[in-house]
Amino acid sequence: MFDNLSERLDRSFKILKGEGKITEINVAETLKDVRKALLDADVNYKVAKTFTDTVKEKALGQNVLTAVKPSQLMVKIVHDELTELMGGETVDVNLKGAPAVILMSGLQGSGKTTFSGKLAKMLKTKRNKKPLLVACDVYRPAAIEQLHVLGQQIEVPVYSEIDSKSPVQIAQNAIKEAKAKGYDLVIVDTAGRLAIDEQMMNEIAAIKNAINPDEILFVVDSMTGQDAVNTAKEFNDRLDFNGVVLTKLDGDTRGGAALSIRSVVNKPIKFVGTGEKMEAIDQFHPSRMADRILG
Ligand code: GDP
Repeated sequence: MFDNLSERLDRSFKILKGEGKITEINVAETLKDVRKALLDADVNYKVAKTFTDTVKEKALGQNVLTAVKPSQLMVKIVHDELTELMGGETVDVNLKGAPAVILMSGLQGSGKTTFSGKLAKMLKTKRNKKPLLVACDVYRPAAIEQLHVLGQQIEVPVYSEIDSKSPVQIAQNAIKEAKAKGYDLVIVDTAGRLAIDEQMMNEIAAIKNAINPDEILFVVDSMTGQDAVNTAKEFNDRLDFNGVVLTKLDGDTRGGAALSIRSVVNKPIKFVGTGEKMEAIDQFHPSRMADRILG
């Protein structure tokens, strides 16, 4: 994960090796490399600029003759700023409702259905929840079947309606069913399209209005870089979601989405997907991610 970015950042810190102190010149030289590394990792241009400007200010503001070597100092500042850039703190999913209702949003292929299964399993085993999964994709029977297969695998029931053409109604009926049968968590998987279109947005906005979820998660493929950030913006403008799920971090992803999304949409990344298996899910910890990026 982020191998190229890690290597490039490491190389840029080497500029400071052997330097006795931080100066305007060696900081500028180092940060020029850092900025290029970020841009090549597909980090949003404005985000990269603000990031290096902040690091510069902090580095030059440090007491010049500390015991810490300039390269170490720079690594520390970059680590702290990367952590901040990704939101600083870990933000939990909201499970307060009775039942707690989580609505999944995102494009087709982003990993929504897979993630719905992973989240149900995680919250069932680690938080003792009793989840009900809901299949709301009325366009692709295969998507409904996929959720049923996952449900069986993780031993979580799946609510679907074969003949219904109304995702709003399915979601509402599922919540009624959950209340009647004592499920305390409802995870609603929705239909996605390959690109944003008005009909999909209207549909998911209508589901949101009808069921008033405790949590809306936006699921996005981290391999899609800048596109991930643009899609996040469009979904957020429309849905005002609560958190982001970054999938496919196990692939050869460059890091741009992870580093840009938070500051562009001002919503926390809450979970990451790291594989196709039902166990390949983690809560997102900004500081640990910064550790990984810096190697
Ligand atoms: P949806 O259309 O948004 O519901 O996406 P799916 O859940 O069907 O996922 C699309 C493809 O991505 C499937 O082949 C999944 O197995 C795969 N996938 C989902 N999450 C991950 C992940 O975290 N890592 C990897 N490597 N593949 C994933």
